[in-house]
Amino acid sequence: MKVGVLALQGNVPEHLQALAGLLPKGDLVPVRDPSTFAQVDTLFLPGGESTTIARLLKETHLWPLLASRLKEGFPVLGTCAGLILLARDLAPGSGGRDPPTLGALDVRVRRNDYGAQRESFEGPVRVQGLSGGPFPGVFIRAPRILDVGPNAEPFAWRDQEVVGVRAGVVWGTTFHPELSGDLRLHRRFLAEVGRSIRT
Ligand code: GLN
Repeated sequence: MKVGVLALQGNVPEHLQALAGLLPKGDLVPVRDPSTFAQVDTLFLPGGESTTIARLLKETHLWPLLASRLKEGFPVLGTCAGLILLARDLAPGSGGRDPPTLGALDVRVRRNDYGAQRESFEGPVRVQGLSGGPFPGVFIRAPRILDVGPNAEPFAWRDQEVVGVRAGVVWGTTFHPELSGDLRLHRRFLAEVGRSIRT
């Protein structure tokens, strides 16, 4: 299984480093263009700046390719800006222009809803089915999940608030597992994706 990390902007090295702890080097592919995208069986969408990532996805012609693969059940894990890009829609109010979204996760989110950079925070996250105690949640200018529709399922919570959702093999988190030094979520996603690709 070849695993891609969208390498246009944002926390790309951090995802690559986390995944390097779990995979042989040759199975890890930074995705920058249609030819590298064609090699991968799954893709991580990193945190960063969703407006910039959306613009670069369009400039590199990756946007329509990713959109159509998502419709065919292509597995993707999006963190923070990555979740924003996967969302069904965005609630206005973040200030500035919102990016277009891919609509692969049935959630409404609002960007930057916990405040500016200085309001970034860390805290324990409860992840369904993950053993070994709470997951260290790193939230950086995080979006807030305002609404989860019938086609998505929450799998992670901070207190009572949903901070992770999935629709089959499309997963999104408002926090950054790639910045936590904890590989459990990456590992669990890859295990499920591996099963879905083999079956
Ligand atoms: N605030 C960023 C955005 O709206 C996301 C922040 C992040 O990915 N750390 O795109």
